[in-house]
Amino acid sequence: MTDYPNIDLPPTEAKIFHRMWTELAQLGQLPHGYGILCPLCLIPKSHEELTLEHIIPQRALRHDPESLRRAHSLNDRSGLTLLCRSCNGLKGKCYDPIIEKMFKTPKFAPQPHEQKRELKARRTLAYLAAFRELGYQYILTSRLDPVRQDFLVPLSSPANTGLYFISIGFNRDDPHAYFDGWCDTFDEKGDQTNSVFTCYSDPTSETIQIRIRHITVMLPKSDRGIVLARKPGTPPNTSVNLSVT
Ligand SMILES: [Zn+2]
Repeated sequence: MTDYPNIDLPPTEAKIFHRMWTELAQLGQLPHGYGILCPLCLIPKSHEELTLEHIIPQRALRHDPESLRRAHSLNDRSGLTLLCRSCNGLKGKCYDPIIEKMFKTPKFAPQPHEQKRELKARRTLAYLAAFRELGYQYILTSRLDPVRQDFLVPLSSPANTGLYFISIGFNRDDPHAYFDGWCDTFDEKGDQTNSVFTCYSDPTSETIQIRIRHITVMLPKSDRGIVLARKPGTPPNTSVNLSVT
């Protein structure tokens, strides 16, 4: 097996890099040489080419309620991962401004010229949240190619993928998606967990449901047949219950 590289990154990035590298090694998906796959473009990148990504832009966190601010660190509320410089720049330029609007105005309705980008922004947000929670084991499937393609080409029409991408949108009225004024997270039994993102699916569903605050998005289940649900109170990517069909 390839040796873990000597890396020179600030501690947070190094920790995330290690987690991503280890998972790819376990899956037998490490690129040749060293480095890891950028979660969005899936291109092998060395650690020098990766940058820290705030899944929810930090500016959008200004709209989090006080109770949430007290309970979670800024990084927790934002959700961190690594992206290559190119994907990080594209997300920052094309999608983060829309994501910020979603958080600023919970019933944000995009203008006609924003609709395509809003849908892509929401899927990108859900995709990265799912990656943070579930890791490569979830995203390394061709079923998610349309999400990645959509991300990379901001001006194209979003892929029409039928049932897989039913985007529920804002559901403040859903008691499971909203808790005490803030959408905390729940495991598969509906118990509250301490994560800021929730991924949920039942065995009969073709989709997984990703909840981020007041936003819920459906994405396809991995064709690896791997599902979901982290145990309450555990860090992301460490104790995903694997159920291989
Ligand atoms: Zn990339």
